[in-house]
Amino acid sequence: MASPKTRAVSLTEIETLALTVFRAQGCDEGNTTALARTVTAAERDGSVSHGLFRVPGYVASLRSGKVNGSAKPKINHDLASVISVDGDMGYAPLALETGLPVLADAALKNGIAVMRVVNNFHFAALWPETEYLAERGLMGLACTAFKPTVAPAGAKEAFFGTNPLSFAWPRPGQTPLVFDMATSTLAKGDVQIAARDGHDVPEGTGLGPDGQPTNDPAEILKGVLLPFGGYKGSAIAMMVELLCAGMTGDYFSFEAGVHDNNDGGPAKGGELVIAISPQLVAGEGWQKHCAGFFDAISGLDGIRLPGDRRHKNRLDTGPRHINAELINRIKDLC
Ligand code: NDP
Repeated sequence: MASPKTRAVSLTEIETLALTVFRAQGCDEGNTTALARTVTAAERDGSVSHGLFRVPGYVASLRSGKVNGSAKPKINHDLASVISVDGDMGYAPLALETGLPVLADAALKNGIAVMRVVNNFHFAALWPETEYLAERGLMGLACTAFKPTVAPAGAKEAFFGTNPLSFAWPRPGQTPLVFDMATSTLAKGDVQIAARDGHDVPEGTGLGPDGQPTNDPAEILKGVLLPFGGYKGSAIAMMVELLCAGMTGDYFSFEAGVHDNNDGGPAKGGELVIAISPQLVAGEGWQKHCAGFFDAISGLDGIRLPGDRRHKNRLDTGPRHINAELINRIKDLC
């Protein structure tokens, strides 16, 4: 919706703005185009906390020298089902674009394959990687950590990152089923947007610096976020730490917190992406079996499937309504 605080910007203009700002910051062409594709896809789908909103943070980490804008990701594929991508201290989009085709091929051949991405900075949504796999007939699962932002259940001190987890399931001939969620009550970007726009956040989102629950996003940004669903979400956040740090060898969130320069961009960390072929594991008939499941759940009153909102947004080729101050800020960075 247009408002006095927003400006209507076409998807082409969004991509051009992203290309211009990353080139102006000295990124090479491979990194520039991968970053611009990521930002534009997020705005197209309505993942607003991970589109243009992230550009000032991307720029801050390029300027501080923490992130390499000319990174050349390198792949190691010595084991049939294990792909290792060294991101060369760059941003995730190019490392993922380099590794995903190799991961998909390995899973389509072997039934299952896993990709570890290290020396990498993830500042985006995770659905692009899981959706890529589902569009090729594979189940995709991806997760990454951050730096201490979330208090584990029972604690008042930040220890976990917001630790997003994305899962996609292929539905040939239809959009895949995809969920992509922070394991905190809200993604930090959404808390920052609420603080910027002067909105309260729901009860239970986080604690202020005094350790007390608050609905004020500015206070939560000085305090801690909470995991979704109490101790159950906390257990999933812990699993994400072990998958993307224990299983990759890159930082746990608490380690990233020690090494990060707090320039406003993402922290260095690992990402784990798992691909499994239902055709090779469940065998013939999996598609019909799962179509029955999706028909049954979709028939329940009040249901919408995760991913449906984004896929519907994707069909809208019209302009997106972007915060006007953000656009001016990015133009200044060009
Ligand atoms: P949301 O809570 O907005 O959504 C989580 C998931 O639930 C989405 O797949 C969404 O589908 C689905 N969903 C939402 N409402 C419903 C509903 N009523 N019925 C069924 N499904 C629903 O996401 P978060 O705020 O937790 O996370 C936002 C983004 O932040 C994610 O893309 C995540 O990857 C990213 N992130 C990235 C980090 C990083 O370090 N790179 C750190 C933390 C988060 P739909 O999209 O269709 O609405």
